[in-house]
Amino acid sequence: MTITERIDNITRIPPEFRHAQPPAPKSVKIEISPRCNYRCGFCALRTREVQPKWDMDFRLFQRITREMREAGVEEIGVFYLGESFMNPRLLVDCIAWTKQELRFPYVFLTSNASMALARTRSSGSLSAPIRRLIPSTFPESSTILTAVARTR
Ligand code: SF4
Repeated sequence: MTITERIDNITRIPPEFRHAQPPAPKSVKIEISPRCNYRCGFCALRTREVQPKWDMDFRLFQRITREMREAGVEEIGVFYLGESFMNPRLLVDCIAWTKQELRFPYVFLTSNASMALARTRSSGSLSAPIRRLIPSTFPESSTILTAVARTR
C-alpha cells in the first residue's frame, strides 16, 4: 500500500458513514488528562483559551467506554491532547478496564514518555496488555527538547 493510499484510508469518510445515523466509529481517542509537562510549539494544547486542570473522572470513563463497546467501537486510544502519564494511576486503571473488563481488541497510547518509567513504578505497572505505545521523544538533555517542548 502506498503512503498516499494509507493517508486516504485515514482521511476519507467511507460511504457507510455518510448517513444521518452513521454506525459507531471503529476507533476513538479519549483525553483522560488534559495536562502536560511540556509546551511544544506546534501543539494545539497551548491554544486552548482555558487550560483544563482536571483529569477525567474514572466512573465517567467506565460508563462511556462501556457504551462505546456496546455500540461497536473496537479501538480505544487513552489520550488526545495532554500527557496521560500525568495521572499514571488513572492511566493504568483505564487500560486495565478497557482490556480486561470490556475486552477491547485494541488499546493504544501516544506519549512523550518522559515520565513513563518513574510514574508507572509508583502506581503499578502497565501490565495490562496494551497493544501499542507510541513514544514521541527527544533526548532528555537536548537543545531540541528545550526549544521545541519548552521544558525550561
Ligand atoms: S508533549 Fe504532546 S501533548 Fe504535550 S505539549 Fe508536546 S505535543 Fe502537546
